[in-house]
Parts: sequence; structure tokens; C-alpha cells
Amino acid sequence: MTEFKELGLNDDILKGIKDLGYKEPFPIQEAVIPVLLAGRDVVGQAHTGSGKTAAFALAMLQKIKPRNGIQGLIMAPTRELAMQITEEIKKFGKYTKIRVVTVYGGQGMGIQLDALDRGVEIVVATPGRLIDHLKRGSIELRDITHIVLDEADTMLDMGFIEDISFILDLAPEDRVMSLYSATMPTEILRLSEEYLNNPKQFLLSADDLSGDGIDQSFLVIKDRDKFKYLIDFIKPIKRQCIVFCSTKYRTRDVAKFLHQEKFNAVAIEGDMSQHRREQTMGKFRSGKADILVATDVASRGIDVPTVELVINYDVPNQELLYFHRIGRTARAGAKGKAITFVSYSSVGDWNIIKRQIKVPLEDLNQKMGIQISIPDPLKRQMPSRRYGGQSRSNYSRGGRSGGYGRSHRDGDSRDDRGGGRKRYSDRGGKNSYGGRSRW
Ligand code: AMP
Repeated sequence: MTEFKELGLNDDILKGIKDLGYKEPFPIQEAVIPVLLAGRDVVGQAHTGSGKTAAFALAMLQKIKPRNGIQGLIMAPTRELAMQITEEIKKFGKYTKIRVVTVYGGQGMGIQLDALDRGVEIVVATPGRLIDHLKRGSIELRDITHIVLDEADTMLDMGFIEDISFILDLAPEDRVMSLYSATMPTEILRLSEEYLNNPKQFLLSADDLSGDGIDQSFLVIKDRDKFKYLIDFIKPIKRQCIVFCSTKYRTRDVAKFLHQEKFNAVAIEGDMSQHRREQTMGKFRSGKADILVATDVASRGIDVPTVELVINYDVPNQELLYFHRIGRTARAGAKGKAITFVSYSSVGDWNIIKRQIKVPLEDLNQKMGIQISIPDPLKRQMPSRRYGGQSRSNYSRGGRSGGYGRSHRDGDSRDDRGGGRKRYSDRGGKNSYGGRSRW
């Protein structure tokens, strides 16, 4: 068992980790921290839940000097994720003198300007607001030595790639940079080619496409019956539960029904003001609410360790989202459950997702003896309403056509730490996408 101190972390940081009760590093931390501390760039295929925040944050905290200007920059796609990263850094860095600020749209400039005036060493930012600060001169990147792009594929989905390039072009070339992404679409590979210097790559190996620790099941039912079953499934839950819906209207409706049934539920969706989203997430995180009803955008990157059940009230419209959603449970090595409600009209979409699930999937219709009145829908190749019957995604399927890992990296990209665990693949190994890794 490797210990944190064997990774080269100093005493102040080790004390912070100890306070958090982390006993041993997660595989991603064991792999990435020594590389970053040695000053080498990293590309990591990693999900939220893998422990990637500590992987990049601990190395950054150690390398940054107090009162020496903004040296660390972390970019994240959403305010929620940015705030969560900041909170983690504050905990890890409790015994360092490093100060951190979150910079995101939707919050008044004043608070951020005040914090920047007082002096910070690390900025955690969503790209748009960061550009506002760069343009008005309230943040300068000249002292930056460490950069992180977190959830790069989500930033791509949200249209931030040009913003990121704009920002990176302003940063000094001599810096240590790492990029984390659950999937490696071509655009992300191109970005890493352009901006990272001979990065060490940690990719998921094919057999890590596991959904490990998550009992996954599905139930094909009429849309109008979903609520009844929702109640049945959440009643026995002892801890917390997230219910994912496809639209904000569904989110509101489901939350309303749950209130009527006297459940302690909160809802979060993209249209809510920043303030209300924070309040709502705060309630859920602190355990004041048992159920969170959410759309996908609102939920990315959310980390609440006590979530034991994820219900896909609606089938997500991309297979990747399915893995993002179910990854909200079974966090940090815990066990969790994910149940997907498949309405008759979603059978086509569900079939596409199902093909990517590499672990046993329980058929609740069979288990519970619930008849489906459309003829044998799961065997029927119903065309997907979203993809016109084609199984496709925006994401590269693991082929290395994007040039990820060019020849100069050959022989250098295998991570051979961790002995027989074989958690990473080198560039010759099949890459996975959308899968969940325990790292
Ligand atoms: P992340 O993937 O960074 O969102 O981390 C997922 C969860 O794992 C967070 O709740 C972390 O606090 C927790 N965590 C990270 N590293 C460790 C560790 N070495 N031991 C125990 N928990 C950890």
C-alpha cells in the first residue's frame, strides 16, 4: 500500500490530507502526483469520483509559493464544479498559506475583485468570467506556473474551447499543465497536442469500462407510470438519492409530485439563478434534503458522497450522460445503485446506451414480473428518436486517429506503477469512452 508521503508531498500538505481522513492515495493520485511534482505535463482520462481533484490540487499546492502572485489556474466548466474544487483546495491547503478564489459568471464582480485585491495564489475559474477578468486586468497570467483543465470534454460540449485557447495563449509557456477528461474526443486531443508539452498520459484501459460498484438496472414502463415506481424505489432509501430528468419542466414536475407525497426533495436546473442553485445544492450536500431532482447540466461534477441511488427518470439522450449520471453514486469506493426508467418511446435510445454498459445489468421487468405491452421491445431494434436510428456519439471511440500520443511519446506513455493492477493502458491499448473507472 503506497502512502501519501511516498508521493513526495510535504508535511503541511500531509497534515491537511490527514485531517480529511484519507488513508491512502487513490490510483489516479498515486500515478499523477509524482509526475506533476517532477514538473511534467499530464493528460488523464478520469471521471469525477476518481479523486482527480486531489491529484492535481495537492501537487499544485506544494509547488506554489505564498505571496508570489497568481501561480495556479484551474479551469472548470461549471460554477458548481469550480466551487467544489475551491472548497477541496481550501481543505487540502489548510496548513499552507496558499489562498484560492473562485471566479465564475453569475456572481457579482465585486466579491471576486475584493478577493483578488486581497491577494490569491490559485484561481479556479469558469472560462467566460476568467476572460472578463483578463480583459479588465483584474487577473494577470504572467506568474502562472501551473494550469489545470478539468472536465475538458464538458468544456468542449459547452462551447468553451475557443475561450480556453484564448486563455492559454496568454499564459507563460513555461508552466506545468494537466488536462482531465472523461472522454477523449478529437478536439480535446488536438488541444492537448497544441498546449501540453510531451504529457504523460493516463488512459483508462478497456477493462476499466466497468461501472464498478454500481448495481445498474432498468425498468421499461409507460411514461405515466414512472412516478408510482419512483416512489416505490425511493421509499426504502436510507441516505440520499438523485433523480435525473430530461428537461427543466420534468424536473419541476417531479419535484412537485415528491413534495406532494411529503418527500424532502429539492430541484436544480439550468434556469435557476446562481444563488438559488447554490442554496439548493447546499441543502442537498448538507443532508437537509434527501432527494435531488436535476437536469444534466445542473449536475455535472456534483460530488455528494452519501448518494446511494441514482434514478434516471428519463433516459439520457447520449450514452456519455448515462455514465456521468450514474457516476454520482458509488463515489470514493462506496457501493451504489442506478435505476433507469425506460418509457416505450425511449427504448431505441436505451438500446444504444445499453450496448456500452459492460457490467451485468438487471432487467427489473423480469425481476418484478412487470409486463410490457409493446411486443418484445428490448429485442426490437427501435430506431432512436435522437439519432435517427444510428448509434453515434460526438465522442471518439477510442481510435487514436487524432494523433494522441505521437511517436515521440511512444514507449513513454505506459504507466507501470501499481504492479499487477494494470489500471492504465498505454496508447496501444483500447481507449474507452464514457465509462467509469475506479482508477
Ligand atoms: P473527485 O474525483 O476529485 O471528485 O473525488 C471524489 C471523492 O473522493 C471526493 O469526495 C474526495 O473527497 C474523495 N477522495 C479523494 N481522494 C481520496 C482518498 N485518497 N481517500 C479517500 N477519499 C478520497
